[in-house]
Amino acid sequence: MTTEAGNKEFIEHILNQRKKRAMAKAKLCLGIDLGGTDCKFGLVDEAGTIVRQIKHPTNLSGGPDGTLDSIAAQAKDLIGSDSVVSIGMGVPGPMSSREGVVYEAPNLKGWVNVPVKKLLEEKLGIPVALSNDANAAAWGEYWVGAGRDVQSMILFTLGTGVGGGIVLNGELYCGPDDTAGELGHMIINFDGPVCGCGSRGCLEAYASATAMRRAVVAGIAAGIKTRINIPQGEETTFGTRAIYDAAEQGDVFAVEVFRQAGFALGIGAANVINIFNPEMICYGGAVTNAGEWIFGPLRATASANAFNKPASRAKIVRAALGNDAGLIGAAGLALRDKTLS
Ligand SMILES: [Zn+2]
Repeated sequence: MTTEAGNKEFIEHILNQRKKRAMAKAKLCLGIDLGGTDCKFGLVDEAGTIVRQIKHPTNLSGGPDGTLDSIAAQAKDLIGSDSVVSIGMGVPGPMSSREGVVYEAPNLKGWVNVPVKKLLEEKLGIPVALSNDANAAAWGEYWVGAGRDVQSMILFTLGTGVGGGIVLNGELYCGPDDTAGELGHMIINFDGPVCGCGSRGCLEAYASATAMRRAVVAGIAAGIKTRINIPQGEETTFGTRAIYDAAEQGDVFAVEVFRQAGFALGIGAANVINIFNPEMICYGGAVTNAGEWIFGPLRATASANAFNKPASRAKIVRAALGNDAGLIGAAGLALRDKTLS
């Protein structure tokens, strides 16, 4: 008995030593996902695992300087005594990863031509890699999420707007101006409703949570009877959950709202299938909680409108990393840059 217990203790000791050595060698990167409401931070290791994470409301007072001061303080807190090789930050707006500058961020007041890379590196003394938030999410899903076993993957993010990212042959395709992957603004109906970007008939004008909410409000105003329960005062903010609950109860109108969004997404999917021949199209964001109410019509429309060969190749799936895709991907891109340099 005594010998057995002693052996067990010895083996545990050896395993713990090995684990400590492995952790000491593992490179850590800080991933930051900056949004207009929240800023998420995560220490991510080389395997794409989040070691520790935290979320803070984005400090919008004091302009870009105030925001970046808060981010630096919060980053220091999370890093603690650990050693971090680089910081990857996803930002919500047009930016240049090469220059490290955010040109503008509609959800961050006063953000115009902000040299984020330079400012954060001065505050933290750690190299910073900037990326667009949707592209970062695409890289996260490709690296360790739904797309970890494929080489070419397209991500659509469905939320207030529709974003996206393109990974081709194992590379994130951002284009020379870091503007590639604006999949929500592919025009699927040139006579369609005006989109937030000023064009007509963008996918976003049909398949974002905002578009679905608008369809519900218009239907109710036109006298359609529905079980969709819009809480008082939430006419412009209610989520797709309210539509989902009604659809689950057999509400014909709720099902139709999802069918139309799924149809629009299916047309979008058919376009990217014919253009890129991807192995996978992956969908993230809260809207995907509608499940088959949206994915059913989406898959049917995609396969009916794309060429057979690439349509049968492209797996249409839900994203796997949830809200963490952006920070994991931002960290992954920073780690990748570190490996390349
Ligand atoms: Zn648009």
